[in-house]
Amino acid sequence: FMKRIFNFSAGPATLPLEVLTEARDEFLDFQGSGMSIIEMSHRGGIFQKVHDESMARLRAVAAIPERFDILYMTGGASTQFALIPMNLARKGGKAGYINTGVWSKKAIEQAKILGVDFVEVASSKDQNHNYIPSPINVPAGLDYVHMTSNNTIYGTQFRTLPNPGDSKLVVDMSSDFLSRPIDWSHIGMAYAGLQKNAGPSGLTVVIIDREYYEREKEETPSMFRYSTFAKEQSLYNTPPTFQIYMFGLVLKWIEKQGGLTAVDAANEKKAKLIYDVIDAHPDFYLGHARKEDRSLMNVTWNLAKQELTDDFLKGTKAASMDGLKGHRSVGGLRASIYNAMPLEGCQALADYMKDFLKKNG
Ligand code: PMP
Repeated sequence: FMKRIFNFSAGPATLPLEVLTEARDEFLDFQGSGMSIIEMSHRGGIFQKVHDESMARLRAVAAIPERFDILYMTGGASTQFALIPMNLARKGGKAGYINTGVWSKKAIEQAKILGVDFVEVASSKDQNHNYIPSPINVPAGLDYVHMTSNNTIYGTQFRTLPNPGDSKLVVDMSSDFLSRPIDWSHIGMAYAGLQKNAGPSGLTVVIIDREYYEREKEETPSMFRYSTFAKEQSLYNTPPTFQIYMFGLVLKWIEKQGGLTAVDAANEKKAKLIYDVIDAHPDFYLGHARKEDRSLMNVTWNLAKQELTDDFLKGTKAASMDGLKGHRSVGGLRASIYNAMPLEGCQALADYMKDFLKKNG
């Protein structure tokens, strides 16, 4: 007997039960090798196939154009915050940053540490990042424009990517990676850790236009250069083999759902269940994000009677739900409803919210 709860954690986050089951079933003896996938050499044929297939699957699922390389790196999005200015900023050039919250700001801090000249092209700081700035006017001649497509903490999301003018976007997709189709036309690089939509933590997927490699500087060590990973198909050193394997399983699962268009439609339906309750009771449930900028991945809200927040959380635990406490910079409540959260989970939360209101409204 096994009881799985509805896990609304912001990440690491819930994964498809089918994926976890498949991993369990083939764990001890992977494809007749007599070993688990995490015990074998990353240079062996069995792992090589897992590795190559996952990259091919990602390219197909996300319709990644030929001009991009797919790199498997480590260190999370936080490491990319530093590698981006290190490798993409030109000497004497200027970068652009869109500031839509804590994660954007952390990216900006790394550019500062590295002494890279940059301009903040837009910010939502004036209203505790509860909206997406628009329109965004990007000055000409920037080396890149960094942005966060989904703001995990505040529950805001770019519906469409902004136009970076004559530059290209470098997009932190940590919390909405593979949740919807991606328009690559304005993108120079996209990156995300697996741990929200795509697998366990420990693998960072980087999708990068090959033209950026020529900007790399002589003084940059090999492990900090994108071209090193590209040249060696991300097997320059030992990669996180288990994460790569799990990523392949999640990609297969996405294909089975009908691909990113189908996943997006499902995510829309799921989010609507919760947003509808917030919208129907605006005096009781205070949504944080501006309506038109609301995220399909992270739903954020406060209780008008803030003193009831602990009761609300206690009740969710009793109803087999977890992970609903809001981030400290917004407070209140947050439901992270990534790809693997089933519709039933969102329905259960919506029902709980209606019930809680009846008792406490
Ligand atoms: N960017 C965003 C939008 C995030 O949500 C997170 C993690 N919550 C990060 C970056 C940091 O990612 P990591 O922990 O993989 O470095």
